[in-house]
Amino acid sequence: KHLVVAVDGPSGSGKSSVSRAAASALGIGYLDTGAMYRAVTWWCLEEGVDLDDRDAVAQATRDIPLQMGTDPTTPSVRVSGREIEDDIRTTRVSEVVSKVATNTLVRPLLQQLQRDLIDRIATETGGVVAEGRDITTVVAPDADVRVLLTASVEARLRRRSKELHGHDADHAVEATRDQIVRRDADDSTVSEFTQAAEGVHLVDTSDLDFEQSIEALLDVVRR
Ligand code: C5P
Repeated sequence: KHLVVAVDGPSGSGKSSVSRAAASALGIGYLDTGAMYRAVTWWCLEEGVDLDDRDAVAQATRDIPLQMGTDPTTPSVRVSGREIEDDIRTTRVSEVVSKVATNTLVRPLLQQLQRDLIDRIATETGGVVAEGRDITTVVAPDADVRVLLTASVEARLRRRSKELHGHDADHAVEATRDQIVRRDADDSTVSEFTQAAEGVHLVDTSDLDFEQSIEALLDVVRR
């Protein structure tokens, strides 16, 4: 039986990098489900699909020639063979991706695609770490291990501000705080991150560094 690890959490919790590192350490595959919402968003912008047209975006979700990379050491997202891993991280996409993520016609389509991918990756690589917002609750509630990876707004702000440069750092930190709070608010339409659902292990990384966060996640898996 293959190992399926489901990880949920808010943006900036270090969820993606920690999940990837854990998958590497375990020698299994990796699936970034947020990247799928981003890919659909990018595709709609490319194709001129109105993001407010719920049916058109759902149709684009059915049509997108999407290929998700599964190697945790080399994140890859391809559409029609074109590598868009960098394109989907731009503010152009980040600013509007919640329109796609809150589209109730899109969610079941991507959730089913994610279930199929999780099965396929697990079979091909012996297991998978799948991360997102609704993996422990909706996509893979029967996963072997389910983890909610959280971090306080302050901790996430601290991490983010380390990445900010320039003489206008204070202003940038405040802007980032607004961004984090706004993103949390957007996300709360999807699920609540302060409390873990039954059977879901809560891992708070607020006071942990990167290596400690990976260990904390691996500890839950080994338990
Ligand atoms: O994690 P990331 O920032 O890449 O997620 C992109 C968008 O997709 C966010 O708006 C997030 O709330 C949403 N998302 C989602 N369900 C998931 C993963 C991400 O609604 N399983």
